[in-house]
Amino acid sequence: MKTVGYAAHSADSELVPYHFERRDLRANDVAIEITYCGVCHSDLHTVNGDWGPQPYPLIPGHEIVGVVTAIGSDVKHYKVGENVAVGCMVDSCQECDQCHNHEEQYCRNGMTPTYGSPDRINGIITQGGYSKHIVVREEFVLRIPQGMDMSRAAPILCAGITTFSPLRTWNVQKGSRVGVIGLGGLGHMAVKLAVAMGAEVTAISRSNKKEEEAKALGAKSLLASSNADAMAEAANSFDLIIDTVPTKHDLNLYTPLLDIDGSLVMVGQIGPLEELMSIPLVMGRRRVAGSLIGGIKETQEVLDFCAEHDVYPECEMIKMEEINDAFARLAQGDLAHRFVIDMSSLSE
Ligand code: NAP
Ligand code: ZN
Repeated sequence: MKTVGYAAHSADSELVPYHFERRDLRANDVAIEITYCGVCHSDLHTVNGDWGPQPYPLIPGHEIVGVVTAIGSDVKHYKVGENVAVGCMVDSCQECDQCHNHEEQYCRNGMTPTYGSPDRINGIITQGGYSKHIVVREEFVLRIPQGMDMSRAAPILCAGITTFSPLRTWNVQKGSRVGVIGLGGLGHMAVKLAVAMGAEVTAISRSNKKEEEAKALGAKSLLASSNADAMAEAANSFDLIIDTVPTKHDLNLYTPLLDIDGSLVMVGQIGPLEELMSIPLVMGRRRVAGSLIGGIKETQEVLDFCAEHDVYPECEMIKMEEINDAFARLAQGDLAHRFVIDMSSLSE
């Protein structure tokens, strides 16, 4: 199927319209017309080459919602016309212990990301959701719960699951004391989800600028990491900290905020950090951990959780042609919400 998207052609070029082919349906494939796609900082990292050389031309986008337009002959769970979603993965081996354990993101043979990776069968590079259509095997398609507002759902597919998964893994519940570092796309979802789980949530931001937004999201307060006195006062006060900072940074600022046995979970920076001091870890059995998106089953769970608890990302709708400006603003880190592309703005 011929379709169109917005692709980067090199690490330093802007995204421009790009015509390409989506594969013909395999027996277990679902064809989707994309209605909305969120704009994740990972899209920016990837096209900029921050995570190594990329197979350009490359269409990013892994917070995808849309409508089923066709199904392969063996597809059992989806019908034409249904509202569906696709997140950060489109395939995995389906045979290893991790896949069997519903954690395809940790597939022993490597999952296939939604964009920038060879398809497991034909080797063609996967292309993401900044496009009109996508074709995905049934096992990696999610169901949009009945009644969910499609125009506000897309960021759940990455920002939502990436923060939901560690909140669940670390057993956040009523009364848990949760800190969220970086109030951007992931951070604002971490706040909303943790609040919905009953936690007492503090947004930890570089300055006080986002205080109003933090409170509107349900945070009890905002702690400015630039305020040394406030940071000292907040020592030992968190059970869990979710760190969404997208660049190399100094964890030593944050580890003393954890209570004994507390954990700081990295979901932001994928790469080097400033040198880590062991003292707060050793002197309080504190832990630094990491977490990658979430499995397909858990991604369905976060969609269902959001529908049930009326948790929606804060979305700023943009047209496809505005993506380069959106990337520039995302790079500055001044948003406390998510850009979402209205794909009807992209003509064929
Ligand atoms: P984002 O919307 O840009 O938000 C990041 C936030 O971090 C900013 O809003 C800002 O918040 C803070 N920040 C930015 N630059 C900073 C700096 N130099 N030092 C300290 N804080 C800074 O990005 P996002 O879409 O949430 O993504 C965040 C990161 O998560 C990216 O690196 C992305 O690649 C990664 N990610 C990881 C996974 C995973 O599976 N682990 C999944 C998705 C994304 P304040 O203004 O409040 O300080
Ligand atoms: Zn993402």
